[in-house]
Parts: sequence; structure tokens; C-alpha cells
Amino acid sequence: MMFKGMHIISMKNFSRKMIDHILDTAEQLEDIARNKEQSDILAGKILAVLFFEPSTRTRMSFETAIMRLGGNVLNLGSVDISSIAKGESLADTIRVVAGYSNAIVLRHPMEGAAKLASEFSSVPILNAGDGAGHHPTQTFLDLYTIRRESHLEGLKIALAGDLKYGRTVHSLCYALSHYGADITLVSPEELRMPQEIINDLKNRGLNVTETDSMESAIKDVDVLYMTRVQKERFPDDAEYQKVANRLKITPELLESARSEMKIMHPLPRTTEIDPGVDATPHACYFQQSFYGVPVRMALLALVMGAME
Ligand code: ASP
Repeated sequence: MMFKGMHIISMKNFSRKMIDHILDTAEQLEDIARNKEQSDILAGKILAVLFFEPSTRTRMSFETAIMRLGGNVLNLGSVDISSIAKGESLADTIRVVAGYSNAIVLRHPMEGAAKLASEFSSVPILNAGDGAGHHPTQTFLDLYTIRRESHLEGLKIALAGDLKYGRTVHSLCYALSHYGADITLVSPEELRMPQEIINDLKNRGLNVTETDSMESAIKDVDVLYMTRVQKERFPDDAEYQKVANRLKITPELLESARSEMKIMHPLPRTTEIDPGVDATPHACYFQQSFYGVPVRMALLALVMGAME
């Protein structure tokens, strides 16, 4: 399998074999991510970090990942003080930054931005979220979390919250289609998963059901994947307010869940998971955010050609 030089744009580009290989590579690197072992396999390599939207975990875990492997980070920093504020096009920025680095991590509000960037880049582009489109590196860490904390094969999972604008769930459900999952989609009517994605999933042989009731959805699942309502994607605040607090997980609600059920969330959370849930054995979202480090180490080592 040749990952060297590959752009990471959408889960649609990955076969089951490729996904399993990335997860296996992450597992090999986990002790380095935990700082129990040292490595310099990416010494001399530079990762450029271009974030046109806010981020905590994705940006910092990519930075941690390259540094734990001996490489360096080149961070664009705030868009307002770069040439982008002078009107530079994304294509030109990418052409320039590719000359300074060995790979570029890009987060952008426009759907399709990462794909576009890949057409102008001489180094691998890693899509760190393109608007409401995709977020494949989040999906690799989600799959890694599910494999470590539950099981991927024949998974019963509920995806809940903002399924319309949530790029993490868009990417995740494509990946799950390789493992034969039962998917329950839980959202208010206004935030349903786009029909085109549901059709794709059904064509890939997945069992997909939709509901707006959290109570019924959580009874029989292995994993509940909760998401934030994506305020920044709404055309106006009034529309956002109508759905903002519709779904919420509380310790009381969890009484009807299976004891081994895990709750995941890409974070940040707002009101959708009550802090009282954090102390329950179901809460898995902070482990999940740590797993971003070994997974992003694996992706960087593979696309930069330091591992095969
Ligand atoms: N951090 C995730 C993302 O960038 C989820 C979120 O923002 O709600 O898509």
C-alpha cells in the first residue's frame, strides 16, 4: 500500500484495507504519543498548519504528532495578519506554502476547499475540515477509538445532533460502511442527515434508521456519537435558536442504556452532554481526543513516507 505523497481529502477515497492499515500504524505509535518512547522518524520534516476556522484539538494534536516524531511545525497563525487578508487566493497560498513544507493541514469554511487545494499542492494536503463537508482525520481517530473502546465489526451506533451540517458524522458514516454497522440517526427534523448521504449508505448495504427520540435510540447501541449543533453554519441566529438545545444527554437518560455503551463526541461540546455524564463509565470523549495524536502521527508518517 502506497500512502507516500497521498492527499487525505475524504473517507470515500479509502478502502477497508487502507483504513485498517492506518489504524494498525497508529497502534504501533501509541506509546510514542504517550511519551513513553521517543522517535525522530520525521526529523527534518515540516508540517504547515493553515486554519481558516477555529480549532483546538485538530490543530494541537497535529502539532503534537509531528513534534513527537521529531519534526517541526510552520503555523500560518491568524488569517487576519497573513496575506489572505490582502485578498490572496487559496490556490496561491497553497502553492507558496507547499514550497516551505512537507505536508499541509488545511481547515477551511468552504466545502471542497481541501480538494481544490490538492490540485495546487506539490505536497500532501490533509483535510482538517472543509465547511460542512468532510473531516477524515477526525474519522480515523473515531474509528481508532471505537476499535479500542468497543468493536468495529457489526457495530450498533447512534449518530446524534446536527447531522445536517456536522462534517464529522458525514465522514464517519462512510467509513462505517466498510464494517457493516447498524446506524440510527437521531436529530430534529431540521437537522436531518442529507438524503444523498443516506442513499449512499443504503447502497453500501448499511441498515439506516432515522428518529428524533434520543430515549429510544440509546437503548440498544454500542456507541452513541453525539455532536454539537454547528452554530456557525446557520443562515441566521433565530434558526439556530430553534434547534440549539433540542437534544441532550443526562445521567438519568443513560439509565436505559447498556452498561458497556460508550459515548463519543468530537468536541467542543456546548449543552448536548450534561457535565454529570463525564463521571459515568459511558463517557469516552476525552480518551477519544487523545487518540487524535497517535492517529495523526500515523497519517503524517505514512504520507511523508517515513513508514509504509
Ligand atoms: N471539532 C469538530 C469539527 O471541527 C466538531 C465541531 O466543531 O463541532 O468539525
